Amino acid sequence: MDFKDTPEEAAFRAEARAWLEANAELADPNDPGDDVLGERTDPATIAAAKAWQKKKADGGWACITWPEEYGGRGATSIQNVIWGQEESKFKTPPNIFGIGIGMCGPTVLTHGDDRQKKQWIPKLLSGEELWCQLFSEPSAGSDLAGLRTTAVKDGDDWVVNGQKIWTTGAQFCDWGILVVRTDATAAKHAGLSYFVVDMHSPGVEVRPITQINHGQGFNEVFFSDVRIPDANRLSEVGNGWAVAITTLMNERASIGGGGTGDVIGDLIELAENVDHGGRPAIEDASVRERIADFYTRSRGVQYTGYRTLTALSKGTTPGPESSLGKLVGAALAQEMAAFGIELGGVAGATHGDISTPGASAFHDMYLAIPGLRIAGGTDEVLRNIISERVLGLPPESRADKGIAFKDIPTGPAS
Ligand SMILES: Cc1cc2nc3c(=O)[nH]c(=O)nc-3n(C[C@H](O)[C@H](O)[C@H](O)COP(=O)(O)OP(=O)(O)OC[C@H]3O[C@@H](n4cnc5c(N)ncnc54)[C@H](O)[C@@H]3O)c2cc1C
Repeated sequence: MDFKDTPEEAAFRAEARAWLEANAELADPNDPGDDVLGERTDPATIAAAKAWQKKKADGGWACITWPEEYGGRGATSIQNVIWGQEESKFKTPPNIFGIGIGMCGPTVLTHGDDRQKKQWIPKLLSGEELWCQLFSEPSAGSDLAGLRTTAVKDGDDWVVNGQKIWTTGAQFCDWGILVVRTDATAAKHAGLSYFVVDMHSPGVEVRPITQINHGQGFNEVFFSDVRIPDANRLSEVGNGWAVAITTLMNERASIGGGGTGDVIGDLIELAENVDHGGRPAIEDASVRERIADFYTRSRGVQYTGYRTLTALSKGTTPGPESSLGKLVGAALAQEMAAFGIELGGVAGATHGDISTPGASAFHDMYLAIPGLRIAGGTDEVLRNIISERVLGLPPESRADKGIAFKDIPTGPAS
């Protein structure tokens, strides 16, 4: 990859930078940064995030790759990367729009009709309305097509019953993208349909789940006789799987290359401040060796991520090999967090202990990272993608292929 901007890219970067300088403050490089897992759900944070998104929309810098007629600026993917790089240098509220803008918007733009795009896209882009993804269920995560929430046609409406889980941000969302089973007599993937549901509809019950780190990033969502107008269906009845694939491709792209940020810098700083037998830990060769190993592997993840950028810069779509970034990056981040806790001693293991600056940050990171190894495809699922679609190894055997969903055995044989 050529790491320098082309003249056009440099001009675009300068334009983006000028707008950001006029509208936001430069960030402190030691700031912990974005809340990637959506843990910050207090009303003040949400209001601040909405206000920043509105400001970007008014300035023409929201969802820049989306078509101009819906408020975007028809920018290229590499321009979007450049915009993201520049925006990340400024102090902005946590990005609570990852699912709406990264996944729901692109799906509506791909599969929605004109009326649906006009109804939903402008308020999604301007941050006025928040969206969530209602896909996973208690018995359908990696095997999403095994989902059991049903929708039955009744006049001009569909009546939905069932349960979703792990729905990030559902407690403050206005709309949700929903995949349901509309035909149990069809094969597993063929009996699904895709809807947009108003989260304020009667019969939608959202129950936040409290996590190990006390955050409430995700929820259980129950549907009891919820009515959704047929006008809120995306694509044909029975074509829900194809629409869901669009969402999932965008999910993987928006979760991205699994960069590990400046964790190395934080580890070095901590090792300089922590006392190991009367001298700074950084003077211990085994500590330096661990940090050097993390540094080498982090650069591997970073440069692999540049392959994705190269594909974008050349106008092509990154392939399944981009799954590598999250697979390796999330596991590496978890190892680094564990080392940070070890290094910090008691302060590392204690939430909010400020006796050793920086030590407890690794505690928070350690509790949050396991989610990253699951969301958007677990490690095992990503390995399956790499083995089947990158290395060309034989596919997993699938015993439920071509069988009507209702006939797939679900319990022990009697
Ligand atoms: C932070 C976070 C946010 C999330 N947000 C959302 C959201 O907003 N909306 C939403 O719909 N969902 C969301 N999810 C759910 C997420 O998509 C699922 O957790 C994920 O798809 C895994 O499904 P599961 O939890 O049911 O695990 P399962 O699929 O039951 O997997 C259990 C274990 O079996 C392994 N396994 C499963 N299948 C295979 C296989 N074929 N080969 C080898 N091993 C296998 C898995 O790797 C895992 O270790 C979120 C999850 C997290 C952690």
